[in-house]
Amino acid sequence: MHKYIICGPQGSGKGTQSRLLSQAHDFVHISIGDMFRWHMQHHTKVAARITRIMHSGHLVSDDIVEKVVRERLEQHDFNYGFVLDGFPRTRPQAEYLFENWDVDRVIYLDVPDEIVFERVMRRAKQGLGSGFTKRADDNPAALKVRLEEYYTKTKPLLELYRQKGRLLTVDGTKTISEVYSDVSKALGLSPLTPAADLLASVEANV
Ligand code: AMP
Repeated sequence: MHKYIICGPQGSGKGTQSRLLSQAHDFVHISIGDMFRWHMQHHTKVAARITRIMHSGHLVSDDIVEKVVRERLEQHDFNYGFVLDGFPRTRPQAEYLFENWDVDRVIYLDVPDEIVFERVMRRAKQGLGSGFTKRADDNPAALKVRLEEYYTKTKPLLELYRQKGRLLTVDGTKTISEVYSDVSKALGLSPLTPAADLLASVEANV
């Protein structure tokens, strides 16, 4: 079983790379943001507690996140493994994960701050979210909050991953195909299908 975490700032390509990896190797892609958006579309009890906070760009509280993640991971529906996208984002979330799951590698998509700001602001102007769907939290005010949350709470976790010997840093400024190929090589996975073919099919399914 392969157990990976993918992390990086907004606009680093986490969603795209986790979809590519999962599709190529039959891993289950677990995106906490997508799970929350599902709850909002279906007006669940969880939705009532997260909608306002998510739209503001702030992080949802650890207890709600932990519950949703625990229920998801307890399904054990992974044949070959999973890629966790957007979790952990805080120290308590990381501690919960490492106490319960033996994570193989944390893939960090490294993108310099100035490129992050440029990509994020372009996204805000276009009103486009990851996967090219419009997101309520892709407006300048919410994006600013999301970046602040990332730099103050999520980025410091890299030090923990490094100490645990799990951190894999990949240059996230390259093209989608190049990043995918670098990640595959570093994880010792053969890319199987050329990234361009995979990308076309992934984009067709978002
Ligand atoms: P994402 O699609 O990964 O950008 O997540 C969208 C939003 O969902 C974030 O801005 C947070 O409000 C919430 N969210 C997703 N993952 C987490 C997490 N691990 N902890 C707290 N909030 C999260």
